[in-house]
Amino acid sequence: MQSWPSLVDQDVHGKRLLIREDFNVPMEHGKISDHSRLDRALPTIKWALQHNAAVILCSHLGRPQEGQFDPAFSLAPVAEALSASVGQEVLLVQNYLDGVEVEPGQVVLLENVRFNIGETANDDILSQRLASLCDLFVMDAFATAHRAQASTAGVAEFAAAACFGPLMLEELAALGQALDQPASPLIAVVGGAKVSTKIQLLESLVHKVDTLIVGGGIANTFLKAAGYDVGRSLYEEEFVALAQSILAEAQRLGVRIPLPTDVRVAAAFSAEASAKITSIELMSSEDMILDVGPQTAATYAQMMQQAATVVWNGPVGVFEFAAFADGTRLLGEAIAASPGYTLAGGGDTLAACSAFQLSDQLSYISTGGGAFLSYLQGDILPAVAAIQNKENQYVR
Ligand code: AMP
Repeated sequence: MQSWPSLVDQDVHGKRLLIREDFNVPMEHGKISDHSRLDRALPTIKWALQHNAAVILCSHLGRPQEGQFDPAFSLAPVAEALSASVGQEVLLVQNYLDGVEVEPGQVVLLENVRFNIGETANDDILSQRLASLCDLFVMDAFATAHRAQASTAGVAEFAAAACFGPLMLEELAALGQALDQPASPLIAVVGGAKVSTKIQLLESLVHKVDTLIVGGGIANTFLKAAGYDVGRSLYEEEFVALAQSILAEAQRLGVRIPLPTDVRVAAAFSAEASAKITSIELMSSEDMILDVGPQTAATYAQMMQQAATVVWNGPVGVFEFAAFADGTRLLGEAIAASPGYTLAGGGDTLAACSAFQLSDQLSYISTGGGAFLSYLQGDILPAVAAIQNKENQYVR
């Protein structure tokens, strides 16, 4: 069993807390266009204030150049929005590396951590200066946990004490339930454009799942590996051999990798192209596969009815084009209707869930794109490891 030191188990009364948040909110014309990340962070902030902690929040926003202030990446709009939602002033602090003035019951927000030289390089000196601002570092930004940076892993290493916030623990619990001790049968869906970006994920999942559904351009490479002609479809010739070895490994392990039996094809990669349904055996060498066909979608849906756990990352077609969205929509609806524990994550998958109004219907939707994929493929998340290593030091 994992040990997850938790904020709610700490005595924070009168203590300085530095909470790493994910305030990397989408901005349009200087305004926050989606407040969900702020809303999700609120319960942790309120808990800390209710327990009379002196609360220091920090986050990155976008990818500014380190070492120079750029108003386009300032967290000023976040401080303003937080002041309204927390119900008390959240002061934005520009210069904080030599110390921050904050009293118990107050909350301040540090300006974008990526303005500091050494943030992305996880510089020790910067990490120590951040650590010296607080008595307790609280990691509550799952989406940044796969990056070893000064405000994620570095500060955790040097802080007097460190723990996870409730939002981060919710993510870790959901991922753990789906991947560490999953109820079986476990089905993973890995869709998307390219095998090359998900090699480690596919190789790792084949050892964990009962069924691995591959979709999109990834499925095309697998179809090619299984000897089918995929015409002018997107696939990666240089990864056909890898797909063959994954198919062979799956067979050896008794894992199912069901390939599409029918597909929606078009003559061009275009939103205006008309869709034609064809069996995979009868595909013309002029056609491009842009989605799965109804028979394949029905097979996937049937599998979802039997699943005890489903993990979903990536679309099974070009869901951005209306004529090729059905496969991903039907798959998403089948996952939502599955009696099992269902978890989805990744940028395109979230976009698909929101486009097809599925976001509230899955057991859990991960907030972490890169961090979700890292966890899925079995990586150790540096910010998680930094806190756990610290815990182990205390135990010894
Ligand atoms: P990824 O970024 O690897 O998760 O891939 C997501 C993208 O794959 C989406 O934008 C889809 O439009 C695209 N995609 C899915 N299926 C196909 C396909 N059959 N051919 C080309 N692109 C696809």
